[in-house]
Amino acid sequence: AQIKQVEFVKSSARARDCPKDNRPEFAILGRSNVGKSSLINAFVRKKEFALTSKKPGKTQLINHFLVNKSWYIVDLPGYGFANASQSARTDWSSFTKGYFLNRDTLVAVLLLVDASIPPQQIDLDCANWLGRNNIGMTFVFTKCDKIKGGKGKRSDDNIKHFQDLISKYYKEPPPWIMTSSVTGLGRDELLLHMSQLRNY
Ligand code: GDP
Repeated sequence: AQIKQVEFVKSSARARDCPKDNRPEFAILGRSNVGKSSLINAFVRKKEFALTSKKPGKTQLINHFLVNKSWYIVDLPGYGFANASQSARTDWSSFTKGYFLNRDTLVAVLLLVDASIPPQQIDLDCANWLGRNNIGMTFVFTKCDKIKGGKGKRSDDNIKHFQDLISKYYKEPPPWIMTSSVTGLGRDELLLHMSQLRNY
């Protein structure tokens, strides 16, 4: 389940412009500053990977990266930009919702959630929306190294609270993986998880 090769394929403005080769894909989604770029860089170990999507103009696009010539990681715009105007936020919603609802090759959404802070309403809203629309999701908790002792009470409380809040939208609670881009925690688990979902 190792990542041997990653290549940037394209940036798309909407779902119908995305690659049409039917390869399975995972979308990575999260609040701005959740640690998405750090996680991608740490996991892929290739600097050019996430940086592409940080370039001005690419941040509001759907960015496809082909992994090992067989499946895609899709970098979606971060939500909840503190400085974004209301209209920019609305654009993000309709654009991203269109992608989720129309992308048949989407295997699962990896929803990144900062484990070192209490549950954020915007993350809950996002999880609830995905749940209501039956879109497969895995919670990827980030920055787990920031929690005292690695498995501190604060972290467990945050995660439990989060799961309680979203569980009513799912028949079974979505899987969740604890990660840190500082220590590499969760790397193998996440890669294995994605390979299992692809072969399911
Ligand atoms: P993005 O906006 O979601 O792409 O977030 P970044 O990857 O740019 O990270 C936002 C901030 O959180 C930066 O200051 C990172 O150094 C920090 N950060 C990201 N991941 C981790 C992590 O796993 N542990 C710690 N301690 N800090 C992190």
